[in-house]
Amino acid sequence: MEQRIYNTLTKQKEIFVPLKSGEVSIYVCGPTVYDFLHVGNFRGPVVFNMIRNWFESNGFKVTYVSNFTDIDDRIIDRALREKVDSLVISERYIDEYRRDYATLGLRPQSANPKVTEHLAGIVAMIEKLIERGKAYVAEDGEVLYAVRSFEGYGKLSKRDIDDLRSGSRIQPGEKKRDPLDFALWKPAKPGEPSWPSPWGAGRPGWHIECSAMVAALFGEQIDIHGGGMDLIFPHHENEVAQSEGSFGKDFVKYWVHWNMINFGDKKMSKSIGNVRTAREFLSSYEAEIYKWMILSVHYRSVSDFSEDGIERAVAGLARVYSALAAVDRVIQAGSAVGTAPQASLAKAIEAADQKARLAMADDFNTPEVFAELFNVVRAFNASLKPGKVTADSLANAMAVRQFFASWGELLSLFEQPAEAFLRKLDDMLLKQKGLDRAAIDAKVAERRAFRDAKNWAESDRLRDELVQMGIALQDTAEGSRWEVAK
Ligand SMILES: [Zn+2]
Repeated sequence: MEQRIYNTLTKQKEIFVPLKSGEVSIYVCGPTVYDFLHVGNFRGPVVFNMIRNWFESNGFKVTYVSNFTDIDDRIIDRALREKVDSLVISERYIDEYRRDYATLGLRPQSANPKVTEHLAGIVAMIEKLIERGKAYVAEDGEVLYAVRSFEGYGKLSKRDIDDLRSGSRIQPGEKKRDPLDFALWKPAKPGEPSWPSPWGAGRPGWHIECSAMVAALFGEQIDIHGGGMDLIFPHHENEVAQSEGSFGKDFVKYWVHWNMINFGDKKMSKSIGNVRTAREFLSSYEAEIYKWMILSVHYRSVSDFSEDGIERAVAGLARVYSALAAVDRVIQAGSAVGTAPQASLAKAIEAADQKARLAMADDFNTPEVFAELFNVVRAFNASLKPGKVTADSLANAMAVRQFFASWGELLSLFEQPAEAFLRKLDDMLLKQKGLDRAAIDAKVAERRAFRDAKNWAESDRLRDELVQMGIALQDTAEGSRWEVAK
């Protein structure tokens, strides 16, 4: 199956052909570590976790690298404020990032280079750019990239450099030769951390860091470079200028950019409140809610983190997990396996799997995958018959479990025991509603007793009360089950 990827460089979907057959090299710009990470900072990790899993499931050997920017003004500012070394700040927030990453249940990347480990490579790359006439040293030791020397400047972001230039002027006495020139090396200011270089003590500019780390880990070219859309200009445009300026080769085959997260407008949000960090979000909501919210929209579309968006994710997850809980109940009750699943269900699963695979091959179209997951849920629910578990229904349940296990592994979803997860979702919703599980259990039991005594008036009155509270009741032969309506 051919894989198509939307390439920001050509603004179209292209058939993926790796540099090296059977292998995929991926570099994704990682966070600047000066504070807890924003909710939006994990969109990229969730998306690329899925992309990596998908390539691997298709037999590719994937090397997936994401860096930590641990030299930056904001880190230095914070270090000065707290009167500690800047490494204390960056290492602290790298640890916090790793905690959030682990909470999200994402597989570790192949490597996480840090800028502080790559200064020699950065300096060497700047020297090379100077040698090749792509960079120049100003009087104070600042090294600048000469944008005018790189013919392709603007090709990634589709910006017209004359337009860009007209917006800014060189001020008298400024060291830039062209208003678009950008810093590769900045001389140290007093009291700031610095590293030695041929141009004096200082520190690298942000853009050169990524170019040098890619070169150190992969060499002159890579298959896929990822980042948020907000990085296309100037960060990635400058990376192209630096790497291609150094090596004279196309730097990246496919530029993959994910869209932003939208928190809704002012209407937002009793429950999401002022949640802005991933840590706050993940302490209020299950990690699978976050992953569902990211993956249920296409990575190039805006992701909606409003109250409504959260409610949709909870409802969607609950639908899948309710089916999985039913699967578990059938499997626990059944004993004889042997027959194949019911033909209509087997057909529905096969069709869904096929369509979901085609959707993934079409620029990782996960919303289409989710539609297929629901198709299987629907087909399975329709196949459920009340009463005894037959060999047929057992085979049905096994087939559905297998389908969700394999797609769940790809998406890093559906990894929790179903019944327990549904309970957690309900507990979360009960807390939001200010309701208490024990009180509802008692009311449900009371109603059941009226019902068993055929006191329909009282039984109906209590049912209405429960419905008013947002509780959905289900009467089965084994008793009454309830859940929070979603
Ligand atoms: Zn970068």
